[in-house]
Amino acid sequence: MYISVLSAVETALWDLTGKALGMPVYQLLGGKFRDKIRVYCDTGAYRETDTSAEAFGKSAKKAVDMGFNAVKYDIDERNDPNKYDAYNWTASQGELERMYNQIAGVRKAVGPKVDICVDMHGRYDMTTGRRVAKMMEPLNLLFLEEPIPAENPEAYKQIREASNTPICAGENHYLAHGFRKLLEIGAVDIIMPDLQKAGGLGEGQRIANLANLYYVPFAPHMVASYLGAMASSHVCASVPNFLILEWQIYFHEEPMFKEIVTFDGPMVDKGFIPLSNKPGIGVEINEEGMKKYAPKDVPFFV
Ligand SMILES: [Mg+2]
Repeated sequence: MYISVLSAVETALWDLTGKALGMPVYQLLGGKFRDKIRVYCDTGAYRETDTSAEAFGKSAKKAVDMGFNAVKYDIDERNDPNKYDAYNWTASQGELERMYNQIAGVRKAVGPKVDICVDMHGRYDMTTGRRVAKMMEPLNLLFLEEPIPAENPEAYKQIREASNTPICAGENHYLAHGFRKLLEIGAVDIIMPDLQKAGGLGEGQRIANLANLYYVPFAPHMVASYLGAMASSHVCASVPNFLILEWQIYFHEEPMFKEIVTFDGPMVDKGFIPLSNKPGIGVEINEEGMKKYAPKDVPFFV
């Protein structure tokens, strides 16, 4: 929590400095390698009651029709009727079959060229993580995220070495030091720090550059509104090894996400965030929108 709060203050200071100097944040970070930031669309299929392969496929098709060229799915499911114990996370044969069929449904719907990302939220054990990574090989994932809990880099290395499916982690790691061992021992194929949690924009750039020493791409986790997306985009623009940034379908579907910020132009254009050239981050908090959606009885800070 301390580092997350520190990240918010750090990010606000980049915004203020950019505004004071009349420069976009990417310029303060040393310049940009690219003008637009590729995103994968988290389809939110896990929020639906219908989690069949057909429903997963349909949501993927919808995202591709909106212009996205990469989609993401969660396959961890606490309420799967084939899960026999609330605390043990060894997936049963029924769960494994459900996971495979869902992602096969996505691959069938989008064809061979769209990238598919899969997240297991660090819930399963080694045997399951290894089996899922191996099982997904024919579906050619962009990555399999957190197949096991985040704390044990040696266990990640074993899973990584057991299959050809690219393995990634990072949203539960903090500061550049939190990524050091993952990279040094070759525990992951891709790192995905959350720049709103891991130490901020400067630390995010350091983490990306550290990963680049190991030829590991940088694909930040991101669930922090369009403001967080644009703040992250400045870092993504500033490093050579940026791969892809997370994006949420609900930014389009829930009015709150447009009302709590002000910005120019489209949020996303054909699967890419156009990088802001305005001073600072380039996306502002809309205080009226924030007040409207703030939890009742919680004082609004100004
Ligand atoms: Mg995740």
